[in-house]
Amino acid sequence: MFKSIAIDGPAGAGKSDVSDILADKLNFIHVDTGAIYRTVAFYFKNKKDRLDETFVCSKLNNVFIDVKFDDNRQKMLLGGVDVSDKLRSDEISKIAAKISQFRCVRNFLLPIQRGIAKSNNVIMDGRDIATVVLPSANVKFFLTASLEERAMRRFKQLKSKNVECQYDEILSSIRMRDRNDLDRANSPLEVSKDAIFFDTTGKTIDEVIEFLMFEIKKVIN
Ligand code: C5P
Repeated sequence: MFKSIAIDGPAGAGKSDVSDILADKLNFIHVDTGAIYRTVAFYFKNKKDRLDETFVCSKLNNVFIDVKFDDNRQKMLLGGVDVSDKLRSDEISKIAAKISQFRCVRNFLLPIQRGIAKSNNVIMDGRDIATVVLPSANVKFFLTASLEERAMRRFKQLKSKNVECQYDEILSSIRMRDRNDLDRANSPLEVSKDAIFFDTTGKTIDEVIEFLMFEIKKVIN
C-alpha cells in the first residue's frame, strides 16, 4: 500500500519548496499539481481570447499530458514535448487560474493525479488534494501565510532568479489568485476537516519542515 501526504494552501504559501524537501527526506515523489494545471494552461496559450468554458471543454480531447519523474523530479510533457521550464510565467499563471475553475478541466486531471498516487509514495501539493483528490491521504496539511509575506517570498524568489518584477504587481496577482481559488464553485480552496493547519508567517523554512516532519513521523515511520 502506497503512502500519501496532502499539502494544500494558497499561492505562495511555500508548498512547493517544503514538499521538495520533505520528498527528499522521506524518499517520496513530490507531485506538484499546480504544474499539471499549468500544462493545460500552456496548451491554451495561443487561444487566450477564447477561454470560455464551452471552448476549453471541447478541446480537452486534444490535450495529451504526461507526468514523468526523473530522479524524483517532476517533468511535464505536453504532446510528448517537455514544457516543464515554460510553466512559471505570469501569463500561464493567469490562464491556469481561469481554466482551473472549469469542472471539465478538474475532472480531466483528477484520474491523472490519483493514478500517480496509486503507484507511488507521494507528497502531493495543490488546492484540493485533501478534500477531493486524495481524501484518504495518510497525513494532510494546510499551509498558509499572510498575503504580504507570500507576495514578498515570491518577489525574493523571482529576484534571486534575476526575473524583472514589481512587489505591488505580485501582491495584486496573488490577491486575484486567492479570490479565484476561494470563490470558485468547483473544488474551492478550503481547509479539510482532518487537515493540520499551519500558518508559516514569520517562520523559516527549517521551522516549517521541523513541524511537518514531527507530524508525519507520528503517522508514517
Ligand atoms: O500552485 P500553482 O500556482 O502552480 O497553481 C496554478 C493554478 O492551478 C492556480 O490558479 C490554482 O488555482 C490551480 N490549481 C488548482 N488545483 C490544484 C492545483 C492548482 O486549481 N490542485
